[in-house]
Amino acid sequence: MDKGGHPIALSGLSKFLQTGEICWPDGKQPFVLTFDDGYLSQRNNAFPFLLDWSIPAAFCVMPGWTGDGTSHRYVSDSNVREFSEAGMEVISHTVNHANLVNLRLRNPGAWAAEIVESKTRLQDITGKDVIFFSYPFGAYDSPTRNLVAENYSGALSTRSGYDHTSSDMFVLRRVRKS
Ligand SMILES: [Zn+2]
Repeated sequence: MDKGGHPIALSGLSKFLQTGEICWPDGKQPFVLTFDDGYLSQRNNAFPFLLDWSIPAAFCVMPGWTGDGTSHRYVSDSNVREFSEAGMEVISHTVNHANLVNLRLRNPGAWAAEIVESKTRLQDITGKDVIFFSYPFGAYDSPTRNLVAENYSGALSTRSGYDHTSSDMFVLRRVRKS
């Protein structure tokens, strides 16, 4: 029998990892769809499809790169609000797509701001809590993981693997599809 996949929200995965509560149909293989870096093409191509099929997804965006809608490459603040209002998850991907491991050594103040201010700026845009984080370039070390853990409920790495049950909530693995 073909088990088939079933898309779930990242919050559903997080709840499962913390409580064991299952939010997908019996016998299906759950997966979380994530979109990186806030490209406008994701808004114009993927988002309408997701809406039509009621597929939950998570958009990882940098509030330093979103703006007034004049960019032809990145989503605007109002696109981010649109994702959120449609029930999609908005995930912090730092303010400026910073490499947090390098930045912490060079400028600890800027490093902390990338983690903390990206959350508050996205919350100002969406009017909702932003509880997940995604490390740009998959770069993290233990101080970075710890500051993220103080400010968020979970974080995505780019380490690949399906084995979520044994993983750290702040280093959730992903399967890269490109
Ligand atoms: Zn990225």
